[in-house]
Amino acid sequence: MSDRVYIFDTTLRDGEQSPGCSMTVPEKLKMARKLVELGADILEAGFPIASEGDFQAVDAVSREFPWAQVAALARCCTLDVERAAKSLEHAKRPRIHTFIATSPIHLKYKLKKTQQQVLDEAVAAVELARTHVDDVEFSAEDGARTEPDFLEKISKAVVAAGARTVNIPDTVGYSTPKEYGALIGQIATALGDCAIVSVHCHDDLGLAVANSLAAIEAGARQIECTINGIGERAGNCSLEEIVMILKTRADSYPYHTGIHTEHLFSASELLTSIITFGPQPNKAIVGRNAFAHEAGIHQDGYLKEKTTYEIIDPRTVGVPEGRLVLGKHSGRHALNERAQRAGFDLSKQELDELYHRFTAVADHRKKGLMDEEIVRLILEGRKAQAVAAD
Ligand code: MN
Repeated sequence: MSDRVYIFDTTLRDGEQSPGCSMTVPEKLKMARKLVELGADILEAGFPIASEGDFQAVDAVSREFPWAQVAALARCCTLDVERAAKSLEHAKRPRIHTFIATSPIHLKYKLKKTQQQVLDEAVAAVELARTHVDDVEFSAEDGARTEPDFLEKISKAVVAAGARTVNIPDTVGYSTPKEYGALIGQIATALGDCAIVSVHCHDDLGLAVANSLAAIEAGARQIECTINGIGERAGNCSLEEIVMILKTRADSYPYHTGIHTEHLFSASELLTSIITFGPQPNKAIVGRNAFAHEAGIHQDGYLKEKTTYEIIDPRTVGVPEGRLVLGKHSGRHALNERAQRAGFDLSKQELDELYHRFTAVADHRKKGLMDEEIVRLILEGRKAQAVAAD
């Protein structure tokens, strides 16, 4: 089995459909440009039957980025599949992603259908999609809560009907790594080389990334994820986290993606500028504190040898140096280092005075100082000196 893991980005679809994350078509195009630059393998640009805006977005993304693999979502029914196919008319590498729920709870309360009906509709939708495009993905919605044997049966049936990718989502974020890995292993073994097994995990129990990682070990080769982990409810598997786990821990996880990690931070920042919220400050990889070493002891070790406290060089993910925060627990050593990097050679007396002013400011706020603020303090100090000398 290949060690290449495909990154299916759904920031523009699952991410966009969550509260506070709506995007206009031009905003989706702006984000799509960044996702292409980042090297995402597949861009899910919308759910065309759901709204005119979603239809336009899929159409616009596939015209603007003809060589990107663009996916459109569709339920397993004729109207949805036809609408998705229409939205992809100008795509050079179109993918129709069709889904139907398979779990007992969804069949009983939501669809009011039998397993056989669901299986027949899934096969019919995949066959119809294949009359329009070569690349069809099938998703068994609420797959993680589906009886494994039915999941295996429907997976084999849709592959026989022409699906190339079978996605087993943990739609409600209920699964755990061990359980999910076993389920994905069963489906991957059943499908062998006939299709790529994909996963789509939600973070309701904070396990979306861990479950995705367990799935890779069990044979999944496509991960559905979003920038900053946005998505329905608690969100989806975070793209930046799963990618950086594979890169940083290649010793334990011998897989690779096509992601150019130096664009991760700017992709996160761009998304934040488009939607109504950013990642929490302590968010792994892209949070504003993710590479901040504030405690004096940590800073002292870090300045002697970065790897004492840093497992990822911030440059690997494109964090600009000036984004590293210095807070009130930072020592003189760190402050001097920061001043030197900004081009200031401070005398001992100057450093003492700077440290005094720095702690006075840092004491009164909770969020620490950026490089530019430290430079301002140095310049103010020199100005005061010059005035005193006059
Ligand atoms: Mn989802």
